[in-house]
Amino acid sequence: MNSEELFKEAQTLFPMGVNSPVRYYKPVPVIFKHGYGSKIYDVENHEYIDYSLAFGPMILGHANKTVAEKIKNQVDSGILFGSLTENEVKLGEIIRNAVGSIKMMRFTNSGTEATMHAIRLARGFTGRKLIVKMEGGYHGAHDYALIKSGSGNITFGVPSSAGVPEEVSKTVLVGQYNDIESIETLFKQYGNDIACVITEPVLGNIGVVSPKNDFLKSLREITEKYSSLLIFDEVITGFRFAFKGYQDIIGIKPDLTTMGKIIGGGAPIGLFGGREDIMEKISPSGDVYEAGTFSGNPLSTAAGIATLEILRNKDYNYINNYASMLGKALEEITSELHMDVQINVAYSMLQMFFNKTPVVDYRTAISSDANKFRRLFMELLKLGIYVPPSQFETQFISFAHTDSDLNKTVDAYTKALESIRD
Ligand code: PMP
Repeated sequence: MNSEELFKEAQTLFPMGVNSPVRYYKPVPVIFKHGYGSKIYDVENHEYIDYSLAFGPMILGHANKTVAEKIKNQVDSGILFGSLTENEVKLGEIIRNAVGSIKMMRFTNSGTEATMHAIRLARGFTGRKLIVKMEGGYHGAHDYALIKSGSGNITFGVPSSAGVPEEVSKTVLVGQYNDIESIETLFKQYGNDIACVITEPVLGNIGVVSPKNDFLKSLREITEKYSSLLIFDEVITGFRFAFKGYQDIIGIKPDLTTMGKIIGGGAPIGLFGGREDIMEKISPSGDVYEAGTFSGNPLSTAAGIATLEILRNKDYNYINNYASMLGKALEEITSELHMDVQINVAYSMLQMFFNKTPVVDYRTAISSDANKFRRLFMELLKLGIYVPPSQFETQFISFAHTDSDLNKTVDAYTKALESIRD
C-alpha cells in the first residue's frame, strides 16, 4: 500500500489515523518504514534527515548496530518473565552511578507512568494533597498532568482535556516556569499542603526553553523550606546533554526524578527514583502502590543498557556543537531575510519560534506563529528534512548526524525560509 492507501485504512482503525495526537497533520502524515543513522525513509522510499528522533529517544540514530544486536540476542533468549532479571539490575546500576540524586528507582513503561507514580509517591510520602506544575510543562497524558493554568495568577488549574474531573484539577496548582514569584505566591497561600513541585528542568514540550538565572535553585530552596518534594521530570533531559542528568550539570538535587526516552534506547521505558527514604514508601516495602506487567522488561532494559554503554564513551560536545552551529546558521539566514524569529538552543536541542519576542515560558511560546511553523515544516519535508511537525515540539541532534547532514540542512532551511517569507 502507498502512503495514501495506508492512511485511509489507518483512519478507519485509529482516531484521525494515529496512535498519538502530534503524529497527525494534513494532508497525509509521512509514513515511515525504516531508519538508519540520521536518516529515515518513508513507504515510498523518500529519504529524510531526522531531527525528531522519535521525539527524543534515538540519540544514537536509528538501527544502531550494537543496540540492534543486543536486542536480537534478547529476543532469542526470551522477552518477558514477570520476575526480576539481570538486565534490570545492570541498567539500574548504570543509571544510579550516573545520576547523583537517584539512590533507588522503579522502572515503568513510559514517561507518563513514571510521573503518575512519582506524584502519587510524593503525596503518599508527605501526606499532602496539592501538587504544583508549570504552565506548559508536559508530564505525559494522565489526569494529574493534563492540567493547564486557569484565569488569574494564583489559581488552581483547569483540565486541559475532557474527561479529567474538576476534583482532580482542584488538587493541581499551576505556576509559571522562570517566574519564581508565581511559585512563591502559591507557597505563601498553600505551602503546607503542597506535596511536590514537578517541573521539566528545561522545558521541552513547548519548543525548548532554558531556565533563567536561579529559577531551579530557588525552586529547590522553597520546596525545602515547606518540606515539599521537588521532582525533576528528566524524561527528555536525562542523558541528553551529558552522560548524566541535567540536575548533575547544574548541581541541584531533586528529591525525585523521572526519566524515560533515552534510557530505553528507543524501546518503551520510564523510571522514577530518588531518595531511599522516599522510594521505600513504594509497595511492597511501603504503602504507595505501583506495579506493571512489563516494567523493567528484558527487551527495553537490553536496549537501554546497550545505548547507555555506548553513550558513556561519547563526547557530547559533538551533538551540542552541531546544535549550536545549526542555531547560528539559522540566525544568519533569518536575519538576512529580515524574519522575526527566536532560536532557542539548549545543548543538543533546538527550536525556531516565529515570534518577535524572546521565548522564555509558556505564554511567550504560544504567542508564536504556529501556522508559519507548519508551512516551514512542509517546505522542509519536501527538501528531505524531517523536524517534529509542530511549533511546540523540539528538534534533537543525534550522534549519527554528520557534517554533510548539517550542510544539507542549512541549505534546505535557506530555501524553505525564503519560500515562506511573506
Ligand atoms: N515527561 C516529559 C518531560 C516528556 O517529554 C514526555 C513525553 N514527551 C513525558 C513525560 C511522557 O512520556 P511518555 O510519552 O513516554 O509517556
